[in-house]
Amino acid sequence: MLRTHTCGELRIDHAGNQVVLTGWVQKQRDKGGIVYIDLRDRYGITQLIFEEGVTDPALIEKAKNVGREFVLSAKGEVVERYSKNDKIPTGEIEIRVSELAVLNVSKTPPFTIEEETDGGEDLRMQYRYLDIRREAVRKKLELRHLMMQKVREYLTGEKFIEVETPYLIKSTPEGARDFIVPSRMNEGEFYALPQSPQTFKQLLMVAGLDRYYQIVKCFRDEDLRADRQPEFTQIDCEMAFVEQEDVLNMFEGMTKFLYKEIRQIELEDFKRISYQEAMEKYGSDKPDLRFGMEFIELNELAQGKGFGVFDSAELVVGINASGCAEYSRKQLDALTDFVKKPQIGAKGLVYVKWNEDKSFKSSVDKFFDQAALEAWGEKMNAKPGDLLLILAGEKDQTRKALNELRLEMGERLGLRDKNNVVPLWVLDFPLLEWDEDTQRYHAMHHPFTSAKPEDVDKLDSDPGNVRANAYDLVINGVEAGGGSIRIHDRELQAKMFKTLGFSKEEAEDQFGFLMGAFEYGAPPHGGIAFGFDRMCAIMAGEESIRDFIAFPKNNSGRDTMIDSPSKISSEQLAELGIDLNQKSNS
Ligand code: ASP
Repeated sequence: MLRTHTCGELRIDHAGNQVVLTGWVQKQRDKGGIVYIDLRDRYGITQLIFEEGVTDPALIEKAKNVGREFVLSAKGEVVERYSKNDKIPTGEIEIRVSELAVLNVSKTPPFTIEEETDGGEDLRMQYRYLDIRREAVRKKLELRHLMMQKVREYLTGEKFIEVETPYLIKSTPEGARDFIVPSRMNEGEFYALPQSPQTFKQLLMVAGLDRYYQIVKCFRDEDLRADRQPEFTQIDCEMAFVEQEDVLNMFEGMTKFLYKEIRQIELEDFKRISYQEAMEKYGSDKPDLRFGMEFIELNELAQGKGFGVFDSAELVVGINASGCAEYSRKQLDALTDFVKKPQIGAKGLVYVKWNEDKSFKSSVDKFFDQAALEAWGEKMNAKPGDLLLILAGEKDQTRKALNELRLEMGERLGLRDKNNVVPLWVLDFPLLEWDEDTQRYHAMHHPFTSAKPEDVDKLDSDPGNVRANAYDLVINGVEAGGGSIRIHDRELQAKMFKTLGFSKEEAEDQFGFLMGAFEYGAPPHGGIAFGFDRMCAIMAGEESIRDFIAFPKNNSGRDTMIDSPSKISSEQLAELGIDLNQKSNS
């Protein structure tokens, strides 16, 4: 071993010990008669001291010449410090160095390797190996590691077994494009990387494994939105002989276990809400329930009074921003600008201030008298001092816009405290979703999801209103996971493919293996998958998943450190039977 201790473990009790430490130079300070070096490794920082009159002058000279991020080995005695640093655990001691070796030199790093760095995102990603030296990033990777251990501990305790499924497969539809890998040995044929192990885990249930899980990479080629990665990790799970209730309980248990073990938070039983209720009350299928501010529909009260915007709207709906009647013109204008942003898309914002003196002031005073405004206020559970914010228009769009406004107000009012954790299950998702572009139904979750038994007979007559045995776990407004009870009957699965517009041949060609397996005693089964990177971020109360991934890709799906994706040689292309000119010629 090149060292006797790490840079994080020496304490006052070690005073007098001879030790050897290794690590990187975080900082070197030349104070005239004394040179200090902060030596850093994964475990912490320890101060080295070189003092005139005590330390050999040649050694002091050597210490003066080390630069940031040099790799050192320092031998010396642990001594108590004159001025202690209570900000770090090793702050009571320092090492009076008697031998110093430079194990490697370093160029000046392109950004400071400290808690707060001056490096922008691009630079940090290009030199990710330097970025990971920062405590802030390293801690996130350590949390990820702990999460993995705890997930395995819980699931193993519940008799789940971890099974690896292949990465070179054929398409599993999860609503994105596949990443495709050409097969050299089978020219003209291609593998797809799994969007999830969905079909394999179902086959493992047919195989009788009963409870499966895997912490697994999934690949989805979609236009990247903020905080989406083309490859990401799931905690993927499946159980046989279960109903929805069993899956919810098992994974509510897992989530509680993780919070208790990792954050020492005891979560209460999770709320449950139907998809429909979530949309009506919060305009979102992943509502943030750390605060109320529920939507109140005002069609009945507000229509027919001559205000065209309301009269022509499918939905008039508002929220009560409690205590905000004092908002200035400028603040209200800012909110109006916010809802009118193209991503949000509202045409305008109607406000009603219920002033402390019990009078009303609104942006629609011309059309509505005080009594009318008071009736709105009452319907919206408001009181003097509150501010009503109202949008109107087409139902879905208006709800979507009001959801954004609700979240914005929650943020402004400090109601989205990251130390407050409010998980909920969203249940009864629609099975199908009409897609205007392709003029067909799509599976809202995926095509293997079963319908609620009481809705099955609507599959032909009213497919859009069939509810699924599907559920999402939402934590603080973020979708942490989702799953469903599956179809395990060949005929039903075939019917589902037909509803989704597959011909018999297409269904057979792509999923014949699964439907075939259903003919050999498939048990009832269901499961769930969690976005693991995201769970880590949620657990830490962070918004971005990037730093919980050691080597993430940027918004264009590139890894700028290794410069990928990249071109391949014409020899490689030829070997794979790929002609890049073919596309432009045809
Ligand atoms: N395979 C699904 C997904 O990736 C999860 C599940 O249904 O278990 O979202």
